[in-house]
Amino acid sequence: MIVTGTSTNPAERPAAVRLRFAPSPTGYLHVGGARTALFNWLYARHLGGTFVLRIEDTDVARSSEESVQAILDGMRWLGLNWDEGPEVGGSFGPYFQMQRLDTYKEAANQLLNAGHAYHCFCTKEELDGLRAAAQEKGETFAYPGRCRNLLPDIVQKFCDEGRKPVIRFQVPTSGETVVDDLVHGPVTFRNDQFDDFVIMKADGGPTYNFAVVVDDALMQISHVLRGDDHLSNTPKQILIYQALGYVLPRFGHIPMILGSDRTRLSKRHGATSVMAYAEAGYLSDAFVNYLSRLGWGHGDQEIFTRQELIDFFDVPAINKTAAVFDPVKLDWVNAQWLKATPSAEIAGLLRSHLAKRGYPVEAKSDAWLAGLVDLLKERTKTLEEMTDYAKFFFDLELTYDAESVEKFLTEANRPIIEGLIAAFDAESDWTAERIEGAFKDLAAKLGLKAGGVIQPARVALAGSKVSPGMYETAELMGKELVLKRLRHALGLIPGAVES
Ligand code: GLU
Repeated sequence: MIVTGTSTNPAERPAAVRLRFAPSPTGYLHVGGARTALFNWLYARHLGGTFVLRIEDTDVARSSEESVQAILDGMRWLGLNWDEGPEVGGSFGPYFQMQRLDTYKEAANQLLNAGHAYHCFCTKEELDGLRAAAQEKGETFAYPGRCRNLLPDIVQKFCDEGRKPVIRFQVPTSGETVVDDLVHGPVTFRNDQFDDFVIMKADGGPTYNFAVVVDDALMQISHVLRGDDHLSNTPKQILIYQALGYVLPRFGHIPMILGSDRTRLSKRHGATSVMAYAEAGYLSDAFVNYLSRLGWGHGDQEIFTRQELIDFFDVPAINKTAAVFDPVKLDWVNAQWLKATPSAEIAGLLRSHLAKRGYPVEAKSDAWLAGLVDLLKERTKTLEEMTDYAKFFFDLELTYDAESVEKFLTEANRPIIEGLIAAFDAESDWTAERIEGAFKDLAAKLGLKAGGVIQPARVALAGSKVSPGMYETAELMGKELVLKRLRHALGLIPGAVES
């Protein structure tokens, strides 16, 4: 039977495509989480489905409101809008697991009544003892099912005594469970390798494997894309789906992201929160582009617009093997995006980077900043690098490159600097063309090639031999700052008294 509308009968196959991202709010949104979110978002958008954001906050000790906000901020920066979830609501809510405790209780009761689950009163000490005994025998600990067959009146008696049981799922002792994975194909697990795992804790909260099944089923999730590290959880979840009579979603386990040393990506590799990449001056489009390539590809194309990603993203093209996070490639992708993005758009973003660095940017117009971006975007890989580079365009104290000063700010070159001061002082039309004219006239007057005049000027204005085109640079710096720097340069000539 095909379900229409928002029926929440989980035993019926969802008609609609619904994907979800289900982070635990125990920290910021990191690169791995962002990539999982992106793949689910892309697939939902590709298929014209719904993208749900669900907050899995049942680990009360480690969850925080601050982390929820950090995750939402990260999602917003990436542009991964959600159709249902926090702040937007939806007809399958609530979207915070801690607001769904009654639902889990109800589902647990259903399993208890059907004989698929049981109360377990084993204490921590008893379990520790069993664990130690298993270790002694060189075996891995598995709960032996001691409370499986407690009679109902014993359970009642223990509860009346105030003992707080957990609820365990009764795993079939024979047979196999097959995860028909969209990425890996069928993966078979023997049921006897699982012990009777806990689904409800003694405090009444659900465990991850239980809550995720109840929620995915009731929220009619059609596809679950998540990291490979969850593959071993999936057979347990499938057993719960079957016991509850729920229809299975399609599962796809996406490859892990490794650092360049091929260990699991972590802070050690410099990969922290997604927002740290925003602060470091990566463009959202570029970061999303880079993330998409971690475990997915489309021919040998490297640069994708969001629309192309949505159009091309498909699950069969997801790799089975781990992806390696390569910061050099990320820089390259960002540089491509800087070049391709209109300067006016970048200028808006650059402004806040400059302001944060304390550059006097308030007085600068948007057009001036766009001009700055025009000059710098071919030479820099991130907005932070652009900010470093841009320093000499502002009336700030310059750091001079000693070698360049020694080579170009010499007594022999004094007439060049003095000549430029004289020419610029008299110039009322401050344009790159007029500035170019002044340089050429001076070169001719001194019997030099243009380059012979430009290099000393560059060191005087930018503090080193590196700058964009001199005429455009001088135009953007403005007459006042150019003259100030040239006069200051005279004082850098050895033996000179600063004027
Ligand atoms: N809250 C789980 C996690 O963050 C979700 C895993 C899943 O997608 O099922 O790992």
